[in-house]
Amino acid sequence: MVKLKLSIAAELENVTNLEPVGNNFEFRFKVKCSSCNEEHPKTVSLNRAEEYEVSGSKNAKANFVWRCGLCRRESSAKFESTPITPYKAENAQFGPLLVIECRGLEFIGFDPEGTWKCVGTESGTVFSEVELAEGEWSDYDEKASLPVNISKIDSKWERA
Ligand SMILES: [Zn+2]
Repeated sequence: MVKLKLSIAAELENVTNLEPVGNNFEFRFKVKCSSCNEEHPKTVSLNRAEEYEVSGSKNAKANFVWRCGLCRRESSAKFESTPITPYKAENAQFGPLLVIECRGLEFIGFDPEGTWKCVGTESGTVFSEVELAEGEWSDYDEKASLPVNISKIDSKWERA
């Protein structure tokens, strides 16, 4: 088993505390088999709310169970129960988002598609429908009379 940490970086203009909305946010990852190093050709999605049985071990559950198309080995992954860490960095530095336990697989990419939320730095205004599929999001904070913007989203996986 290996614990992997996903960190993100982004340029945040007048907003902070960027995080995915809800416990059932679909995280879209690229996955690689640790046995044969085959990369899954498609992005897979998993969330913290859904659990699946892991074959061969009694009562074991995981948030993601995958059978490699090449070597046919089953692997799985389970989110750590610690809450998501909202992203705060203001100068585009990496901040940890989540940790996931992986058995027999490794995640190698992250597609930020889905609904995120963030908070106006000055006003505390909550923006709860932030779409990052295009890699950039803009709005206007009426209360602070400031433009708000998220861009240059980056991510990395490393051992936790
Ligand atoms: Zn494989």
